[in-house]
Amino acid sequence: MNYRITQRAASLSPSLTLAIDAKAKQMKAEGQDVVGFGAGEPDFDTPQHIKDAAAAALAAGFTKYTPSSGTPELRQAIADKFKRENNLDYKPSQIIVSCGGKHSCYNVIMATCQEGDEVIIPAPYWLSYPEMVKLAGATPVVLQTTDQSEFKVTPEQLRAAITPRTRLFILNSPSNPTGSVYAPEEIKALGDVCVEKNVLIMSDEIYEHLLYDGASHRSVASFGPDYYEHTIIVHGFAKAWSMTGWRLGFLAAPAPIAQAIDAVQSHSTSNPNSFAQKGAVAALNGPQDHLPKWLAEFDRRRRFAHEKLNSIPGVTCCNARGAFYLFPNISGTGLKSTEFCARLLQAEKVAAVPGIAFGADDYIRISYATSLANIEKGLERMDCFVRRLGK
Ligand SMILES: *Cc1c(COP(=O)(O)O)cnc(C)c1O
Repeated sequence: MNYRITQRAASLSPSLTLAIDAKAKQMKAEGQDVVGFGAGEPDFDTPQHIKDAAAAALAAGFTKYTPSSGTPELRQAIADKFKRENNLDYKPSQIIVSCGGKHSCYNVIMATCQEGDEVIIPAPYWLSYPEMVKLAGATPVVLQTTDQSEFKVTPEQLRAAITPRTRLFILNSPSNPTGSVYAPEEIKALGDVCVEKNVLIMSDEIYEHLLYDGASHRSVASFGPDYYEHTIIVHGFAKAWSMTGWRLGFLAAPAPIAQAIDAVQSHSTSNPNSFAQKGAVAALNGPQDHLPKWLAEFDRRRRFAHEKLNSIPGVTCCNARGAFYLFPNISGTGLKSTEFCARLLQAEKVAAVPGIAFGADDYIRISYATSLANIEKGLERMDCFVRRLGK
């Protein structure tokens, strides 16, 4: 049998972050003392009232298909969230609930991009964006940034990259993998370019609530009707409510795009899990008092890790005011990211993700979604590892 794999599928590489996390978990299961900095998820449990709402829905038999784009109740709760927190008016019909924020991104790209289109993606990028763009048959156009600019693209850089083929610009603030946060006026300036050049923006705002050092988040859609009309917001429950395994994300889009995605989803996954959606309503409409506690803990770890990383010779780390990642520059060690991470795991049993996965080979990603004790232990080991390299 000739198992011919389509070019579309064969052109993808499996997710390296998931692979490293799996490798670290496997070493741990074998009894090895591994410190994992690979996690792309909070280490906190889902708040109890959210679990209770889903459990009650399950017990009550809320176990059938829902409308494919989500229950009216949840879409209304999401519309209310956009009004309350972002001052944005979306009708529930403009909201699509999907099987995770990743699925929401996929739906947006599938519904807006095709052969011949270019999609502008600032690097370091979330590793799934370019792969999704390729799956859609479109071409990723990567804009390099460095720690010199806190990994932010400038409006000039964006403008210079736009061609008549440019269809979409992907903005992710706060950012995975860098933790970088664009200031509101920086967001507006990028939005100005997209509005002027008639380029759609996919704004991935899943880390909206995870901010430190007084940083603030402003959605590009909120600067006025023109911005709103050019923007599709992607969001989800994974990060601020620690619901990664629930597989629930959502998007808010101009009506024609929402309609198209509704159709795509109705023929692919259909609705996300019914009783998980009940939990999501509780997540949005219930108390948010878990968040300040989580943020205080994340912030403590962030400060410690940032200082410790900068004390390691050959390593520098710029400040990161969002998400739960730091993205230190390791070029001073003389190693590129893949070799650095492979040897670090081998020699010191510390798992970090090589920056090459995010389009930035001089960096590694450190997730601080793990205990302070682990962070102390892991970074101490990394310090020893790097000092030995120099000898
Ligand atoms: C975690 C994440 C998502 C969504 O993850 P899901 O688990 O699919 O909800 C989307 N974008 C970025 C940048 C992320 O880090």
